[in-house]
Amino acid sequence: MLKIYNTASRKQEVFAPLDPNKVTMYNCGLTVYDRAHIGNLRSFTMADIIRRTLEYLGYKIIQVQNFTDVGHETFTDEQKAKLSQATQSSIEITDTDVGIDRLEKTSKRTGMTPWEVAELYIRLAIQDYQAMNFLEPAHRPRATEHIKEQQDLILKLLAKGYAYITNSAIYYDTNKFEKYWNFAGQKAEDKKVGVRTEIEVDPEKRNPSDFRLWQFNRPDHTMQWDFIIDGVNYRGYPGWHIECSAMAHTYLGHPIDIHTGGADHIAVHHPNEIAQSEPIYGEPYVRYWYHNAFLTVDNKKMGKSLGNAYNLDDIRAKGFDPLDLRYFYLTADFRTPQNFTWQSLKASQVARNKIIRTMKELKQSLSEKDNNQDHVTYQYEEKFKEAIEDSFNMPKALSVLWEVINSEISVKQKLHLIYDFDRVFGLKLSETEPDTIDPDIHKKLLTIIAQRDKAKSKKDFQQADELREKARKLGFELIDTPKGTKYQQII
Ligand SMILES: [Zn+2]
Repeated sequence: MLKIYNTASRKQEVFAPLDPNKVTMYNCGLTVYDRAHIGNLRSFTMADIIRRTLEYLGYKIIQVQNFTDVGHETFTDEQKAKLSQATQSSIEITDTDVGIDRLEKTSKRTGMTPWEVAELYIRLAIQDYQAMNFLEPAHRPRATEHIKEQQDLILKLLAKGYAYITNSAIYYDTNKFEKYWNFAGQKAEDKKVGVRTEIEVDPEKRNPSDFRLWQFNRPDHTMQWDFIIDGVNYRGYPGWHIECSAMAHTYLGHPIDIHTGGADHIAVHHPNEIAQSEPIYGEPYVRYWYHNAFLTVDNKKMGKSLGNAYNLDDIRAKGFDPLDLRYFYLTADFRTPQNFTWQSLKASQVARNKIIRTMKELKQSLSEKDNNQDHVTYQYEEKFKEAIEDSFNMPKALSVLWEVINSEISVKQKLHLIYDFDRVFGLKLSETEPDTIDPDIHKKLLTIIAQRDKAKSKKDFQQADELREKARKLGFELIDTPKGTKYQQII
């Protein structure tokens, strides 16, 4: 029985989809103003693992993951400076107030149009996702391809009194939606509005938490669409949040079974999605909310301005495969914060290589007669299922994989189980070649083994032990087998 920790109830709940033949899942996707960084990739790995787990358990699933290519704003550098002056600290940046569209910002910096920015980063994102071995979602809608659906939803919100028009924007009136603060477990008073008074705030805005559904009177914005309401053209562009409500409804209907995103969406973006959807389509908008916790780098906050928001090019430049990063993500539960270091990525690489090497060895020895069909695999299958059904607990599932590798079951059974588990892990364990060992190190290890054999034949066990230590310092364990001494990378 699959159990999912539901952010909405703050409880582990038994998963019961509305229709087991059509589980629906929406993942908040990438804003395509830059490459996906390792924080984004953790979130999308989680989405991929959920998809794979559900399929492993026999469900059919329709997965939708969007690309945000308009409306997701940040502050200009000038605004940021004003803000940090006002607060003497860094504050959370949301798009509640007027800032600058992220794609427009990249456009100004690079000279590309926002459309070209979107094209470029969508292309690179898809390459990155393939390198991470993400299964392709059923749909990857873009916000700019669904302007009409967003406008229709805004019209419905206006008609029902949940939205209002000022001189520059159409806002959602958060006071009208009683449950607005429930999801994040906040109160209206908790919102620090003081710090925002320093930056451009629309004086006609009714509540500090009201957010923009549509922005107009912004001639500096490149991407613009007509929006005619009662004969007036409010030519402009959508706010960020409305796209997810509109596209989720378009592709998945209501309610959605599973909705994922980063924990940073719990405070603003997801309450906004709920507020836009439930008054129009009915409750609930989503049945199971699932969020990944933050990724830190060297125990520090990760950020583009801090230079530690690495992307897959940085990972490759240091000699790693994107799948080493995938393995690294699986070593922590998605709901707990994870700390990235190059050392921990190295440990993941070594572990993944060890599995692949084991697979090769197993495949080579498979030719032996191997018809030992007892039922010992059953306990491993059960254990694995228990782990993935425990809210997608990947560290637990990985430990079952290692148990299998180190077990005494037959080669055929081992291979069968590892292939089976990899349907969830997605580590391409059957296809990938392990990294070859540096030829210099290989030579050194062979010399050490030869010297050690000599020492052993002279019964000089002290020197034999010293040579074993020497190999360990190179990162390898010497293993004595009937066919001679082998070396194996230490994890
Ligand atoms: Zn979203």
